Amino acid sequence: MYRSRAYRYDNEGVVLVLTVLLVLAVIVLTSTVTFCLSGAFIVAMFLLSAILIRSHHQSLMRSAHRVDHHRTPELAGLVARCGLKLQPGQVDVFLVNQKQINAYTFGVSSPKVLVLFTPLLKVMDAGELSFIIGHEMGHVALGHTWLNTIIGGMAGVPAPFGAAVLLYTAFRWWNRMCEFSADRAGLLACGDIHIAVSALVKLAAPEIRNQRDFERALAAIDAEDDLASNRVAEAFQSHPLLIRRIDALRAYARTAEYQRILAGMNSNVGGRIASVQPRFTVPVQTDSMPAREPEPELSPEERWPWLKPKDLP
Ligand SMILES: [Zn+2]
Repeated sequence: MYRSRAYRYDNEGVVLVLTVLLVLAVIVLTSTVTFCLSGAFIVAMFLLSAILIRSHHQSLMRSAHRVDHHRTPELAGLVARCGLKLQPGQVDVFLVNQKQINAYTFGVSSPKVLVLFTPLLKVMDAGELSFIIGHEMGHVALGHTWLNTIIGGMAGVPAPFGAAVLLYTAFRWWNRMCEFSADRAGLLACGDIHIAVSALVKLAAPEIRNQRDFERALAAIDAEDDLASNRVAEAFQSHPLLIRRIDALRAYARTAEYQRILAGMNSNVGGRIASVQPRFTVPVQTDSMPAREPEPELSPEERWPWLKPKDLP
């Protein structure tokens, strides 16, 4: 059977090769431009964040109470104790009058900044505050403050919708892992799983006054992950469900690694500053840390005699 393809037009092959080369060139060029623009975007976001961080730090220095040994000796003592244990580097601590129970930290260069909202002092005792301060110092020590600025900028790179959701979800996933790490730092700072869990419970239920309230609040938190909607919503949030944080801490408190690191950190403070005692007994026993007797309840004024009444909302 006679077969021929010799009738192909002279330029068809040449144009085919040119077309393929052109497509490849456009792909390389556009991805290079996208890569460079994304890099420029990340650098620009980082610089913008650094400027905003600096101005926020300056406004805190003007308007907030700076925690120091002169004005707030007890709180400064707790901060110093946590700092000795966790060695986060230089941290400026401020007390801000706000309604929420919250604390946060930020900074890309030294000193980093730790902000405590005054209601924390009303609802938490010294041990629980050590957990909160230790948690925030853990973010500093592990580099989360500056990493958050960079990774947040990378996750915010303009991208098609599906990719943007993917980037955002991944960023939040990393945020939640950072919270688990910072909780471990908080536990190491206060040195007692009961105190750590008590502080976490009070973030959700600040009004608890006695052991019964506490156990009721813990049971409500325990039911959080029963709802599928809560578990789905968690994927887009910066913090894990409280019950997951509590369970993760309980598991960590049982490890030999925790005991080893705690012993090392405790050697930093020695006997110079009194250790803290839990006020509520968490109904969970760990192999190495039996529950201790709760301390008598103190009023905020008794607990924080140096705080002026206007700072006790
Ligand atoms: Zn945190």
